[in-house]
Amino acid sequence: KNVQELERLETVSENPGTGRSRILVFVRLRPLAKKEKEAGSRCCVRILNRRDVYLTEFAHENDYLRLKRLRGRHFTFDASFPDSATQQDVYLTTTAELVEAVLQGRNGSVFCYGATGAGKTYTMLGTVENPGVMVLAIKDLFTKIRRRSSDGNHAVHLSYLEVYNETVRDLLSPGRPLVLREDKQGIVAAGLTQYRAYSTDEVMALLQQGNLNRTTEPTRVNETSSRSHAILQVVVEYRVKDASMNVVNRVGKLSLIDLAGSERALATDQRTLRSLEGANINRSLLALSSCINALVEGKKHIPYRNSKLTQLLKDSLGGACNTVMIANISPSNLSFGETQNTLHWADRAKEIRTKACEVNEELQQVPESETDQAKLLLELQKENR
Ligand code: ADP
Ligand code: MG
Repeated sequence: KNVQELERLETVSENPGTGRSRILVFVRLRPLAKKEKEAGSRCCVRILNRRDVYLTEFAHENDYLRLKRLRGRHFTFDASFPDSATQQDVYLTTTAELVEAVLQGRNGSVFCYGATGAGKTYTMLGTVENPGVMVLAIKDLFTKIRRRSSDGNHAVHLSYLEVYNETVRDLLSPGRPLVLREDKQGIVAAGLTQYRAYSTDEVMALLQQGNLNRTTEPTRVNETSSRSHAILQVVVEYRVKDASMNVVNRVGKLSLIDLAGSERALATDQRTLRSLEGANINRSLLALSSCINALVEGKKHIPYRNSKLTQLLKDSLGGACNTVMIANISPSNLSFGETQNTLHWADRAKEIRTKACEVNEELQQVPESETDQAKLLLELQKENR
């Protein structure tokens, strides 16, 4: 019991309330694609300033052609990125803080949400010339670790998995579907590859290869992975000595999630969601929307068990975790409906409250005797007064 108290005191004195309890929601507008330009489409979205998005509505097609604007709608987010935003801008604003928190033994999650073609994979993975959040986060992580210690005290493990059609697959070592099991850390995919990473250089190639392993829809051969969810998990483990010279093990986990295209799960209210069940839509994405609705409404029961994705992300949504959502949108009027739905979804996600994010730490060695513990406890209590 004393040991537990020591841990608690250490946590309180070293980390005075740094865990926030709100999901941060960002919007990223991508540039108009060549194809969209050629199809004669125009921009119906404008990023007004660092936070505000304006979506233009037109009465109907003819009004649009005459460029008669009907009315628009404003949305405000924690930040809104114009099409000129760089990968670095997006990483620094959305995820850099989470990487820092993971290095203190906290959990963090970043989701990209949006219709197929809206820029989710570009934001998460990016290209070799313009690497995205996944790669920049790992690069930053290694830089920060190097700055902190030169004794190889930190271990970084990566796993990359996919949820497609309610089956979970290992993207780093494709093979049979993985089974989800409950253990003391929560729900885990049994047998998932934990790749020990030593530098950034190897990671991009690894992730590119992993992405090639993502499931391609048989019916839409040219459109890769629009129904598969990809999750990269980065686990950082290290030992520190706390104020009372106990050796503690700290573990921080960062989950970076490239969600399936949202176009077939547009419902934002429970009734529409239910009517969509059974239709050929993405069950995991629907379940995610249901969980978010339940969390927003403060319900006691959150239906995490309804899908593989929500089981895997349980601790990212309602648990003690720093969570970030990036809603990706296209500027084209041809995607007006999808953009509107994504913005509504993102607007709703702003209302989710999470539990305060705590440090995950386990005591490695305990002081010699009970009396030592009691002494230490007294000293710590004095310090805290
Ligand atoms: P999604 O994963 O949401 O289906 P992608 O990330 O594959 O969409 O993006 C669709 C296309 O648009 C890709 O060719 C991608 O390179 C391009 N793209 C997306 N976002 C940007 C951006 N911010 N800047 C430049 N090109 C982008
Ligand atoms: Mg994609």
